[in-house]
Amino acid sequence: MKKFDIFVIGGGLSGASTALHLSKKGYSILVIEKEIRQNIKPCAGGMASSMKKFLPLNIEKAIESKIRNVEFRWKGSDNVIADLSGESPFWIIKREKLDQLLIDEALKNGTEILRPVTVNKITKENNKWKINCSNNFIYKSEFLVIADGSQSKWAGHFNLGPRRPKYANTIALRLKGLGNIPKDAVRFDFGFIKYGFTWAFPLKESVNIGLGTFINNGLLEDEEINNKIIKSFGFENLSFQNTHKKLRIWNGFHKINGDRILAVGDAASLCDPFLAEGIRPSLISSFYAAESIDQCLSQKLNHLNNYSKNMNDKWGKSMAWGRRIAQVFYRFPKTGYQLGVKRKTAPKRIAQILSGEMNYEDIAKRVIKRLLIKN
Ligand SMILES: Cc1cc2nc3c(=O)[nH]c(=O)nc-3n(C[C@H](O)[C@H](O)[C@H](O)COP(=O)(O)OP(=O)(O)OC[C@H]3O[C@@H](n4cnc5c(N)ncnc54)[C@H](O)[C@@H]3O)c2cc1C
Repeated sequence: MKKFDIFVIGGGLSGASTALHLSKKGYSILVIEKEIRQNIKPCAGGMASSMKKFLPLNIEKAIESKIRNVEFRWKGSDNVIADLSGESPFWIIKREKLDQLLIDEALKNGTEILRPVTVNKITKENNKWKINCSNNFIYKSEFLVIADGSQSKWAGHFNLGPRRPKYANTIALRLKGLGNIPKDAVRFDFGFIKYGFTWAFPLKESVNIGLGTFINNGLLEDEEINNKIIKSFGFENLSFQNTHKKLRIWNGFHKINGDRILAVGDAASLCDPFLAEGIRPSLISSFYAAESIDQCLSQKLNHLNNYSKNMNDKWGKSMAWGRRIAQVFYRFPKTGYQLGVKRKTAPKRIAQILSGEMNYEDIAKRVIKRLLIKN
């Protein structure tokens, strides 16, 4: 029976980046991934460039566009433009490439990966994790990282995160050509989708289009509206393939670690409930997960509780405000658009959120302060 320091279930963004951080620290890791290889990932790839500080390698090869402007529209018309000042603070990366870069680097450091393999059973014996896999092998490890994404089977099994996860419904498509999206701009369009919005993020030679609805498990099945949206992004050929995906969104402060186990990324329900941002929390959670596991393996601590605390402090506090904003904005989208986009300073604030310069908590505090001063 082969033994490892750490098992990582799921070799997507958060699994690969956790494995990379830990492999750099010299630990032995086994990643178990159910897919044979990276297919097209239903992810638009927008990320704040400031997140590179959470990655121990250069990801230039995965960057497809560096964004200078953020465009906002209401049902395909109106055009509010926010200028992203500074050195391209927002990038569009190709997710398949980014995930591959991370896993390749982890493999170079000695990480092992099993794919396509699923885990059939996980048990704990004498403080060691024992897993039985679909390849009929049994492995043992000291720590377990759950990184199996929004459809996680294991986060709930081990009581990590919300008991009843909340989901956004999304549709993702990648279309050839750029339509009418400038190569250095992303576009958000409100009003077409009930309780949500649509987005178009340019890659080098194609555009990632997404439709998302965030409240009441709204549906996205109206083909007529969906075609209107795609046409509004400048595409005439409507024969395309799309992917439906339910995305686990942040839903309250929860413990996302247990004894020698923790969940990262979507499996930990960390996606932004307002804008569906999940790359940032995946990278942040991987970083703190690796830090906590290292503290235990190097015997500085004997628990992983710092991990949940860090994620609640550094991510959850902002998401609590993001959730409140989403609940008001998507219920009253027209008013939301007037206040959240048409106000003079609003586009700049959204741009600052996307680039990681500000969080929802900072914004909410500003608004409250303004109200207090007014009264
Ligand atoms: C349409 C859409 C657009 C998006 N656009 C953006 C964006 O522009 N910017 C942004 O920040 N975020 C975006 N997101 C969110 C982002 O894609 C996710 O938050 C991110 O992929 C989370 O990474 P992850 O590694 O936690 O999960 P995943 O990337 O889903 O990886 C999970 C991995 O686990 C594997 N797996 C699952 N179950 C098992 C199992 N039982 N055993 C072994 N392996 C398993 C899967 O095959 C997969 O490889 C978008 C999401 C969607 C759906």
